[in-house]
Amino acid sequence: MALNRSEQMARIQSKNTAPERILRSLLWTRGYRYRVHFKTPMGRVDVAFPTRKVVIFIDGCFWHGCPIHYVRPRSRAAFWSNKLKANVERDRRQTVALEAAGWRVVHLWEHEVVECPAAAVSQVESALTEERWPPNFDLRVVKVLPCARASEEAWHLQPLRADGDVRIETRTRSNRRSKSP
Ligand SMILES: [Zn+2]
Repeated sequence: MALNRSEQMARIQSKNTAPERILRSLLWTRGYRYRVHFKTPMGRVDVAFPTRKVVIFIDGCFWHGCPIHYVRPRSRAAFWSNKLKANVERDRRQTVALEAAGWRVVHLWEHEVVECPAAAVSQVESALTEERWPPNFDLRVVKVLPCARASEEAWHLQPLRADGDVRIETRTRSNRRSKSP
């Protein structure tokens, strides 16, 4: 599976973020050697250990639909909604294809890396060293719709690796501003 040009650009634009640098420097000081923005047949990955067939994605909470931190933008709703859906679909396609090709795919949220870098590193170490490695259950926001009551929203959440299995939660609308441009 090849990513199209705009999909490649989305990955490239987001490279070398602060969480990526934090994670890489911790891995480096622990003696791990890796490739950065490594090109696989399924597109580029943030960090790769090609001989061990492990890849790491550090996913931005807004762009990739973090179930804790996603904030529905207040303007251009349709544009951002489509963008979120496309990003999550791309993440799923890429993850499923890599895993089918024998790679272990670790997705870390940017908030995990920033809030607790040691725990993030230990997730990577598990994937690198454990004989059996079941990936984390990984829930993504795929859609957030306004409700009749303006203070509420309907959040549609889906496991990254399972298409179609949508759960809907009513949540109070956050007052935080979205991190979108
Ligand atoms: Zn988050």
